[in-house]
Amino acid sequence: MAKVRLEDIKRRFNNVTAIEDISFEIPDGEFWVLVGPSGCGKSTILRTIAGLESATSGKLFIGDSLVNNVPARQRDVAMVFQNYALYPHMTVAQNIAFGLQMRKVDSKIIQERVVNVARSLSLEQLLNRKPKQLSGGQQQRVALGRAIAREPQVFLLDEPLSNLDAQLRDDTRAELKQLHQELGITTIYVTHDQVEAMTLADKIVVLNRGRIQQIGDPQNIYARPANQMVAAFLGNPPMNILPAIYKDDGFDVSGQLLAIPSYMQDNLRLPQGQNFNLGIRPEHIFINEPQQAAENQNQLVVEVKVVEPLGRETLIRAALVKSAALLNIQTSGNVRLHPGDRLSLQLDLNELFVFDPKTGIRIS
Ligand code: ATP
Repeated sequence: MAKVRLEDIKRRFNNVTAIEDISFEIPDGEFWVLVGPSGCGKSTILRTIAGLESATSGKLFIGDSLVNNVPARQRDVAMVFQNYALYPHMTVAQNIAFGLQMRKVDSKIIQERVVNVARSLSLEQLLNRKPKQLSGGQQQRVALGRAIAREPQVFLLDEPLSNLDAQLRDDTRAELKQLHQELGITTIYVTHDQVEAMTLADKIVVLNRGRIQQIGDPQNIYARPANQMVAAFLGNPPMNILPAIYKDDGFDVSGQLLAIPSYMQDNLRLPQGQNFNLGIRPEHIFINEPQQAAENQNQLVVEVKVVEPLGRETLIRAALVKSAALLNIQTSGNVRLHPGDRLSLQLDLNELFVFDPKTGIRIS
């Protein structure tokens, strides 16, 4: 195991800067997830750590060693890709053992490791099978097993679950988490799936356009996103973003007034008459009962467009009546609503975010 430190890493491909200003230190044994939209530079960071790319500038340390000029195979890292390639003519046991044989590890030790790895990944019954006799999920576990058997200092995983179907992905994700808890190998995991990021990570690094947007533990990033990009990226359905103008008594959201209590206005200290983007998560919007709607000054009126019952909860997409801007609302599973229904909505003002519409930075 080892800590991993990146100092101001930059990588250019001809005229394209894929990543820049990338600095962080992953403590020994932690599980970090790099997340962000396609093309944000996640794989480039991982491949740079693996030694498959070289940094244009900056320093990379594994443990206490500067490894910029150390070839990939001497870095003592193991990488698992989305397209795991097993050797088709070898059994599961031979696949897991292969890397160790190449390193001339003693055959008794190899046997022990294969048995241990197979046990921790529930592969014991499959050791004599060939890859084509395995399901996709089993093959992926063998690929992980092959990497684990080497007992690397650092484990690098690039979208390892994205070829699996939904159920298998959920199961394998839970297994991966358990495996990390047992083995404690420093792990860096790349995904664009925010559920994987939230559920697996000790720390999440959110990237956009080659730069770090925020680093933090999952709950903290979810509750206190640094900017509008991070806020909208983590959470499903995503956070609602509503353009609004700040006025005497609150926010004007497309002609509907969202009154803000005076103590909150004091805290906000926003300039009057300016445009802001408001952020509110779907789970922080509530549907008013009819008599509440009649009394309430502080409400948004919407028309239901789509109703998606999911059993435990219902997702609603609704349009603000005055502007047609769409809102995602997450409500209980037993509501009965139909397209065309009019609703009055109450926002939990304690969960309202305010973003600068130009920079996207969270102001409050
Ligand atoms: P995805 O989720 O789609 O895999 P990513 O976040 O992993 O994306 P990278 O693959 O790291 O993104 O790519 C980051 C940027 O660098 C992209 O703009 C990409 O086009 C560019 N890039 C990556 N590799 C090369 C290369 N070999 N030559 C030129 N440009 C590259």
